[in-house]
Amino acid sequence: MDELCGFTFEEFALWMERAGEKRFRAAQVFDWIYRKGATSFEGMDNLGKGLRERLQASLRFPLIKLVSIQDSKDTSKFLWELSDGKLVESVLIRSFDRRTVCLSSQVGCPARCAFCASGRQGLMRSLSTAEIVEQALHIDRYLKEKGERVCHLVYMGMGEPLENYDAVLKSIKILNDEKTLHISQRRMTVSTVGISPMIRRLAGEDLSVNLVLSLHAPNQHLRKKIIPFARKYPLDEILTSMDEYATETGRDITYEYILIAKINDAEEHAVELAALLKDRQCTVNLIPYNPVEGLRLERPEKNAVSIFRDILQAKGIRTTWRYTKGDDIAAACGQLALQTAETPLIGVGT
Ligand code: SF4
Repeated sequence: MDELCGFTFEEFALWMERAGEKRFRAAQVFDWIYRKGATSFEGMDNLGKGLRERLQASLRFPLIKLVSIQDSKDTSKFLWELSDGKLVESVLIRSFDRRTVCLSSQVGCPARCAFCASGRQGLMRSLSTAEIVEQALHIDRYLKEKGERVCHLVYMGMGEPLENYDAVLKSIKILNDEKTLHISQRRMTVSTVGISPMIRRLAGEDLSVNLVLSLHAPNQHLRKKIIPFARKYPLDEILTSMDEYATETGRDITYEYILIAKINDAEEHAVELAALLKDRQCTVNLIPYNPVEGLRLERPEKNAVSIFRDILQAKGIRTTWRYTKGDDIAAACGQLALQTAETPLIGVGT
């Protein structure tokens, strides 16, 4: 069976025509699910009963089932059950009038970052396009009941988005479409640990999404220890591909750096990082590590973070350092799951 939310509008219009239906029927169905918040074909009362039954028999929708919502001050964590019983999560981050959804792209993650629960279990499987799109769709419906809507998307949840390239790319196109949630690509951010061939490919897609690299170390030697997956791709190659992305798209690049005490937070690391990023069109986002039970890693002293930031700024590197929980969550996929969890997470490698 086809997955309804895996279709672009054009694909679905074609699908309807092949099924002997008029094109405007496709627009009606999209209007029901993306605007009116329908969660089944049953209530689509401007479609005939026969058509509703045929759609029900041929299309899978909804594909993901809400298990729970955990609220904290500025975030809500949505836990979803997939049709094979696996669990993933998305996080809604509220910041003033901005509503950002952090999407998962895989169950588990191949990157195995040392500080991340998702990485500890490795990759279980990639999500389909529809499984990604539905996370945003259902949260948008939840917000609409409060008179709000999703306006920003970050692909920073469980998984490495560029390891699920086709599904992620298609979900970007679907969610950007005016017949769906119509979220501007400039308000979408893809976060990667750095897969240079895929970054280059993304640069050639004629998109305007923001790109974030989880850097976390100023050299390949240390980076391999923090992100084992990084062994595959030399750091200089990754940075060159990031530069190409910035040139091709005109978008600024963000480098995220999770500061972990006694691992990557020394002054010499800051000096090395500044040299690495010198003359690059970028911003460094410093994120003090939030300790996670079971992982013997520590949060750096506030003073160490200030010194690190000051060194970067003195050398002309644009640097941000955010304190709020929501921003921290938005800034690091592994930290995302962990910071909001009061209980062990789902497929998130606990
Ligand atoms: S931090 Fe992100 S990239 Fe690293 S293992 Fe976790 S989910 Fe994967």
